Amino acid sequence: MQNELIDSFGRKHDYLRISLTDRCNLRCFYCMPEEGIDICNKSEIMTFEEIIGISKIFVSKGVNKIRLTGGEPFYRRDVNLILEELAKLPVDLRITTNGVNLHKHIAVLKENNIKKINVSLDSLNPDKFKTITRFSVFNKVIDNINLLLNEGFEVKVNMVVMNGINDNEVIDFIEWTQHKPLHVRFIEFMPFNGNKWEWKKIVPYKKMMKEVENKFSLEQVVRISDRPNDTSVNYKIKNFEGTFAFINSVTQPFCGTCNRIRLTADGKLKNCLFSSTESDLLTAYRKGKDIYPVIEHSIG
Ligand code: SAM
Ligand code: SF4
Repeated sequence: MQNELIDSFGRKHDYLRISLTDRCNLRCFYCMPEEGIDICNKSEIMTFEEIIGISKIFVSKGVNKIRLTGGEPFYRRDVNLILEELAKLPVDLRITTNGVNLHKHIAVLKENNIKKINVSLDSLNPDKFKTITRFSVFNKVIDNINLLLNEGFEVKVNMVVMNGINDNEVIDFIEWTQHKPLHVRFIEFMPFNGNKWEWKKIVPYKKMMKEVENKFSLEQVVRISDRPNDTSVNYKIKNFEGTFAFINSVTQPFCGTCNRIRLTADGKLKNCLFSSTESDLLTAYRKGKDIYPVIEHSIG
């Protein structure tokens, strides 16, 4: 039995993304309908012990990076316990959050040396933020981003760019990186069930780059080299503290270098964000079965 998860294309899967919950305190219109989604029963969601147990199995098979996501990971009551326990594993542990409640968890993040935090923020305008997320919590998110920076965290800001909604803010977000060591990532709007996605709402990378080149001179725009498995095309403006990047999931998909494994809150393995099939790990785990053959088959 090998100790690596390698698929039939030779891609090594060492990056696990765990959804801690399917619930959320916001309702970003591109992600969730206003009335919320059909959430799982609590009994269907992985418990603290199950998350840790299943993660350990992945780590024993070569996973060296874990990202906690959701729904909103900080919505889960036992998130601090999960952070503390996962931080003991030999993994690079990260979290993606909407940032609203981050201030309540700064201490546990610091104590466990979890330094890399992605915060989603789609507008620098409070009214537009409310239109997108359906909640008036803009100031909380901004305050928490500043708090993270002051406390020395590495902060990436995820902005989903949508035509006619927030695409006129790309330059504002880049200018925000002038005096702050932020890494802003412009993400193409992706189609998910019922999120009113349309081709015309996508703002292609090339169009955004043209705007950048109109605003800044050629010598100012510096291309930063990508790391293996990077999903983003990375840049910075000369002498700016931060950087910016484009995640072109729709117009330039990065499937060829994808090394991600996704575990849903109810313990199902999903090989791709767009996959229509899942492998149920949790049911097998609860029956005391060895789940490795299921993982191996799914990744294979
Ligand atoms: N609630 C957390 C948050 O918002 O950061 C974590 C979960 S959220 C699903 C993870 C990331 O997916 C966020 O950065 C969000 O903006 C992004 N996302 C959600 N729906 C998307 C879509 N339709 N297209 C592109 N990105 C999307
Ligand atoms: Fe919640 Fe994140 Fe989806 Fe927004 S993107 S609704 S914050 S899970």
